[in-house]
Amino acid sequence: HAKAQGRNRSQFFTREINDSLAQRLQMEQALRQALANDELSLNYQPQYRLSDGALIGCEVLLRWHSAELGPVGPDRFVPLAEETGMIGAIGHWVLRSACLQAALWRAQGLEIPVAVNVSACQLTPGLVNEVAGALAETRLPAGLLTLELTETVLMQRQDETRALLHELRALGVGLAMDDFGTGYSSLAYLKRFPIDKLKIDRAFVHGLPADGDGCAIIRAVLEVARHLGLATVAEGIETPEQHAFLNGIGCEEGQGYLFARPLPVDAMTDLLLAARAQEVEPALCQGSSR
Ligand code: C2E
Ligand code: MG
Ligand code: MG
Ligand code: MG
Repeated sequence: HAKAQGRNRSQFFTREINDSLAQRLQMEQALRQALANDELSLNYQPQYRLSDGALIGCEVLLRWHSAELGPVGPDRFVPLAEETGMIGAIGHWVLRSACLQAALWRAQGLEIPVAVNVSACQLTPGLVNEVAGALAETRLPAGLLTLELTETVLMQRQDETRALLHELRALGVGLAMDDFGTGYSSLAYLKRFPIDKLKIDRAFVHGLPADGDGCAIIRAVLEVARHLGLATVAEGIETPEQHAFLNGIGCEEGQGYLFARPLPVDAMTDLLLAARAQEVEPALCQGSSR
């Protein structure tokens, strides 16, 4: 009896594993077609200065609408793209497309810096040429591009990584450390790498301001960032209380559903137009009163 049960159970697990393997294979095959079938697109999440609400940038977030599978989130397909090496071609497309869009906005007088996520496995000597090429082809000033890297890049091949990051910085692009606090790098690591900006992971923002540990961690991170001359961005701000708290303790920038969700390109363009209209309005009023 017990043996039969054991067999049933193992059959159950085997089937589950087979199902997930089949699913993975199906997703992998679908993802291989995604670029050619034009199924990838970019969303843009606005980033704001917390002290006065000025729109100061946006993060580029990849979206996949598969003809076969429907919408698939980057948390599911980016790891798969990394494991299969497809991230090279996809990351290249993201970088080009983001630079092109930023250049188009700039040509319309809607200048805004864009931040592009880069996987650890994309960080090879080829990336420097790729970034330089994307900037040159789109004529985007390097200062309008930031690359977001995760902590894992700091722990692999440290000397090569440091050299690579210096080369990227020499191009004039910004470097941000994404999801800060979720990896295993110590704050001391930061000093060894040419990073401009820390993005505090939304896991720490989530419980604010009630969560005492979260508050202490963020205060400590901001303190270190100040000493190292790093700008700070909080991710995942969802409530006015979180916004007020973060602004109060000196976090400079933020993004999150409270301000805006990641937007399709047309909605982001509308937002930029609205922000520009707000900027020029006082000048127009002055002009008309004269
Ligand atoms: P990330 O770079 O940390 O991006 C922030 C994630 O938080 C985004 O999820 C965004 O939609 C989400 N988010 C923003 N505000 C809020 C909020 O207020 N509350 C909550 N709960 N979530 C918020 P998304 O777009 O699903 O992307 C997930 C991750 O996928 C990204 O995390 C990034 O690591 C990766 N990713 C996205 N696009 C790319 C890409 O082009 N290349 C690479 N290599 N990775 C990407
Ligand atoms: Mg990011
Ligand atoms: Mg993040
Ligand atoms: Mg993340």
